[in-house]
Amino acid sequence: MNISKKLNHKVTMLLSGEKGTVCKDHGGKLRICLVYPNTYHIGMSNLGFRIVYSLFNKRDDVVCERAFLPDNDVIDEHIRTGTPLFSLESRRSLISFFDVIAFSISFENDYPNVLKILDLIKLPFYSSERDERHPLLIMGGPCTFMNPEPLADFFDVIFVGEAEALTDKFIDTFNKSSDRMFLYQELVDFAGFYVPSLYETEYNSLGSIKRRSTLLSAPEKIKKAVTANSDFIDAAGQLIGEKTEFSNMHLIEAMRGCIWKCRFCAVGRIYNPVKTRSLESIVKEISLRQGITSKVGVISPSLTDYPHVKELLCLENIEFSITSLRADKKSSDILSLIKNKNSVSIAPEAGSERLRKVINKKITSSDIIETSRRILESGIRTLRLYFIIGLPTETDDDIEEAVILINKIRETSPKGNIVASVSTFVPKPFTPFQWHPMAERDTIKRRLKILRDNLKTKSIKIFHEAPKHSYMQGLFSIGDRRISKIIEYISKDMDLQGACRLAGIDPEFYISRKRLSHEIMPWDFIDNSTDKVSLLKEYRKALSVRSE
Ligand code: SF4
Repeated sequence: MNISKKLNHKVTMLLSGEKGTVCKDHGGKLRICLVYPNTYHIGMSNLGFRIVYSLFNKRDDVVCERAFLPDNDVIDEHIRTGTPLFSLESRRSLISFFDVIAFSISFENDYPNVLKILDLIKLPFYSSERDERHPLLIMGGPCTFMNPEPLADFFDVIFVGEAEALTDKFIDTFNKSSDRMFLYQELVDFAGFYVPSLYETEYNSLGSIKRRSTLLSAPEKIKKAVTANSDFIDAAGQLIGEKTEFSNMHLIEAMRGCIWKCRFCAVGRIYNPVKTRSLESIVKEISLRQGITSKVGVISPSLTDYPHVKELLCLENIEFSITSLRADKKSSDILSLIKNKNSVSIAPEAGSERLRKVINKKITSSDIIETSRRILESGIRTLRLYFIIGLPTETDDDIEEAVILINKIRETSPKGNIVASVSTFVPKPFTPFQWHPMAERDTIKRRLKILRDNLKTKSIKIFHEAPKHSYMQGLFSIGDRRISKIIEYISKDMDLQGACRLAGIDPEFYISRKRLSHEIMPWDFIDNSTDKVSLLKEYRKALSVRSE
């Protein structure tokens, strides 16, 4: 394949900052290209993506290379020169060289990028338009544990569960399969493999799901695959990049899942059971990286709850970075051990005690204020406070209480900057709030204005996601297969409204409608040990807080 100077130069630049790039001989091996549906910078900052690269490449019978969504100027160069997307490592065309193209998808708003990439690969979008001559298209990642349906029509096989429990089974089955149908029929006998083309969905006249039927005796429910190994990741082969959010940093996952059950949050539900890594295995992994980097990023949804956090941060000659702490007393002891003073975040989520009770965030205003004070006083340069607006039962009063809370935090210490990072509530599958609609656009705009107007000081900054992105995320989070057309049109640079209009779909049906308790959800076919009856009880309990 002829590759222009500009395209070659771009890849050389990206790879020049890496350590641990795997370049294998291709002979006789299964060829997989792992794709992240966003730029190199974002994809290489994603621990899950880096782990899957290691998992595939650990096998002697596999060569796994990578591809990303190119920057806009590079996309233009691909189009100008007619060059199909190629892998970083060997610069081979994805469509003509690889047996499998594997997407790792963590965020719903990346869905249109999947199709932008398929377009650059020159691969037909829909699985029904492809056959044995095309590479097999598979996907995994947190979005597939929750609700893969909006992307179901595009993929041949979807991994539902943790990659560690699925990659070997997939490779062994692929290697012994004579054709695609054989592969599909073998895979669906295992937990965690979903073949969307073996399922059909019927809808009621009002638009909700009437029933799902299976073809060729595929199982009705797909059981989420879970790794049994509590030292779940031995990612010592993990590559390290310079041009990423965690520049030259080795990332370590200390815990997977979360012991708290905040009602809006999927992390506390979909990674059951919670896994805690032993200190010994982390120390061993760090020692294997010595000489390559002394920077280690510890990843965990709630690091304060990692039982060995203090011993870990006491390890000598390592510069640890942590992302977030829980606002409680335990965090105070951890603060003195943090050497990288750039930034630490805590997540009050809501301004009032009442609303935190609704969402089951078990921290008090005084915990938040005291933890924030200690963070600022410890010399951390930026304290990031995460808030969500548009939560169930929220009123303008709750937002005013958030203003009071942030101002009180500011008054506790003149040191450091405070950044309030505000997102819009999006209902997530497998949470008690999966039935709840998103707030009206005008409500969100008004509440953002309350925050902005009342927090006008130099040392408090507010960041919020554009509401249009939140609504797109909401649609993709809880949508069904009919959403695929909208994703296709957005991938061709149409806005959400225009895409919905062209697809003949009313987005309000998905995002502004309170779902009926008995309604079949698009993700009900995934068995991840979450009990829908308990979720509904939790939802009702949350709504009852309003009148207390
Ligand atoms: S919001 Fe944070 S603390 Fe709550 S369940 Fe999710 S990860 Fe855990």
